[in-house]
Amino acid sequence: MTTKCSRRSFLKASGLVSAGLAITSTLPDKFLLWAEEQGMLKATYTPTFCEMCFWKCGAMAKVINGRVVKLEGNPAHPGARGKLCARGNGGAGLLYDPDRLKTPLINTGARGEGKYKKASWDEALGFAAERLNKIKQQYGPESVALFTHGTPTDHFLPLMWAYGTPNIGMPSFAQCRGPRDVGLELTFGEGIGSPERVDMVNSKVVVLFGSHLGENMHNSQVQDFSEAVGRGAKFVVVDPRFSIAAGKADTWLPIRPSTDMALILAWINIIIKQGLYDREYIGAYANGFKELADAVSEYTPEWAEKETDLPAAKIVEIAILMGKNAPAVCIHPGRHSTWYGDDVQRTRAMGILMALLGSWGRQGGTYIGTKGSFPKGESKPYPEPSKAALNLGNYPFAGGEGVTQVIRTATITDQPYPIKGWFVSGTNLMKSIPNQKETLEAIKKLDLLVAVDVMPFDTVMMADVIFPECTYLERHDALAVGKGKSLTVSLRQPVIEPMYESKPGWWIAKELGKRLGVGDYFPWNTYEEKLKSQCSSWGISYEELKTKGTITIPDTSDPYITATNQPVFKTKSGKIELYSSELKENGFDPVPRYTKHPEPAAGEFRLIYGRSPVHTFSRTTNNPELHELYPENEIWVNASKAREMGLINGNYVSLVNQDGVKSNPIKLKVTERIREDCVYMVHGFGTTSKELKNAYGKGADDQGLITKYAVDPICGGTGMRVNFVRLQKEVKHA
Ligand code: SF4
Repeated sequence: MTTKCSRRSFLKASGLVSAGLAITSTLPDKFLLWAEEQGMLKATYTPTFCEMCFWKCGAMAKVINGRVVKLEGNPAHPGARGKLCARGNGGAGLLYDPDRLKTPLINTGARGEGKYKKASWDEALGFAAERLNKIKQQYGPESVALFTHGTPTDHFLPLMWAYGTPNIGMPSFAQCRGPRDVGLELTFGEGIGSPERVDMVNSKVVVLFGSHLGENMHNSQVQDFSEAVGRGAKFVVVDPRFSIAAGKADTWLPIRPSTDMALILAWINIIIKQGLYDREYIGAYANGFKELADAVSEYTPEWAEKETDLPAAKIVEIAILMGKNAPAVCIHPGRHSTWYGDDVQRTRAMGILMALLGSWGRQGGTYIGTKGSFPKGESKPYPEPSKAALNLGNYPFAGGEGVTQVIRTATITDQPYPIKGWFVSGTNLMKSIPNQKETLEAIKKLDLLVAVDVMPFDTVMMADVIFPECTYLERHDALAVGKGKSLTVSLRQPVIEPMYESKPGWWIAKELGKRLGVGDYFPWNTYEEKLKSQCSSWGISYEELKTKGTITIPDTSDPYITATNQPVFKTKSGKIELYSSELKENGFDPVPRYTKHPEPAAGEFRLIYGRSPVHTFSRTTNNPELHELYPENEIWVNASKAREMGLINGNYVSLVNQDGVKSNPIKLKVTERIREDCVYMVHGFGTTSKELKNAYGKGADDQGLITKYAVDPICGGTGMRVNFVRLQKEVKHA
């Protein structure tokens, strides 16, 4: 048994041993590497950080003769530790994808028809500025909304704030992490961050709720997972599907989908009743214990057995396992938390479990993020919008982060005020927001749709004007500040010059800003000038950062609660809120309660979805290298159900949901590794953009089938595991 995570064990956990090998095999690169070996050419190495997903791993780019031939993990970066995942290795596939957006484009046909003319940058920027100014004059700046994800946000959020709109839609909030973050903030006064501050490397017990680590490939987290498995930590995986993580676990709990809350509440009840909770910790740091104990007393193991399909004795056994190993128990709160519409409360229940075990801020549970920080710079204040942001009145705990579907509804209804323009950067809304019909209806009503992206994704190809952003390997972006155990800062810098006529996001924002009359919000000539001045005000050497890629600030780590390192809970009471007075004041349950959710009817399956280790949503399905590894998704169906329907492995079926929406044909994966009441597929396939030649029409689109969603009344998150499908055999593909 080894305590170190080797490269091989890391790849093995992700099922990628062979995948890693296939990636480097393009002929020109082989020739360049050979020429380098012969001493005929010289390689350079430039540090940067990856954007193939949003973990921001430090990478070293090897360049020979102006071509990026290899990407490697930066050993100095805490998210990479010298390794990249398969998607990270596939970064050059994005750079050299022949389907990249190459020039600015202006729509010449009906919206969505796909007829474009090439335009100069001046023409395209002028086109967008003129129309944005017109909307501002006619309706006010609030009538334009920004939808954004990833590092483009650092450029286009300031642009849109300067323009004067408060309407910002982020699928990463309402369709992903929002309920989790809000649930933990209501309990501990802070979220768990991204990367999550889970201390899996030191855990004795790790509990995963549907978190399919190894398929959900977040580099350092999978390295920690690998290390914890190798060290013999006990893993408990709660998942209706026998995932890669379940395959490494000591206990797989094949829970009935939608009943996770029942299991967590039963565990809370058992831990309280059996006195397995950390009395000292609860006494010192928490309030509302009595109210909690009373509220959960009805959730017995026998009751939970009926709800979850898990044996009562097993439920008790795991509660005891957690209690006996506390506080070194990691309850992983997951990442994509928008499941059933009561997701803030489910995450709160997980938080309460962590608190009872005394694991928040303790070794093996979750660690305290660094208290180190960089000084906030002075910046010109943004104009105060005269109309309130759309989401604020509806969801009391949505905060300033955008509830995408609220902006969409306002676009359709003109209520409470019209939304006439969408500015979309770094997100493919057709694949990220549920109910595509509503998204299309909203897009049709717009006066202007602007898109900034690297690739011609489905949503991009509906825009009136398209700005081709260069890839992360060709640009500067904002400094990435890491607040894990220590304070770190990382630099993204161009590895090669931008290809074609593509431009960095910062340049697009600055140039558009000039034309919108807000150029003074971008008071620098180049982004590097801005970065240098920021580094100097932070007391960091820009030259050192340029050479190393990442700098860790010394003496900024104090990850666990001790007598001299006491936690600060920024809740209303200043304590961990087992009972939330804030929720009570806003008309919600102060202690999580169980709600039953609808079940599939006979012949139907609940549609669940997840990740492939080689793809990031729909963003990578066209990447030539990653497409080769996983070209189309499959639908997992339980073997006995498949037998009943006369279906065999490799058949193609269509999925038809409760509203009659039918998917593309998708290949069947007949397996014992999934319960009978649900089917599972990888998210992000079934691309409709014909410009994406590898991905077009491959596999089925889960988002197309998610016509129904259950909105979390606390924060506006859209629960998306509430759709049921039937299987229809596709004869032509059999
Ligand atoms: S996890 Fe993989 S894709 Fe994501 S940033 Fe890291 S190396 Fe890149």
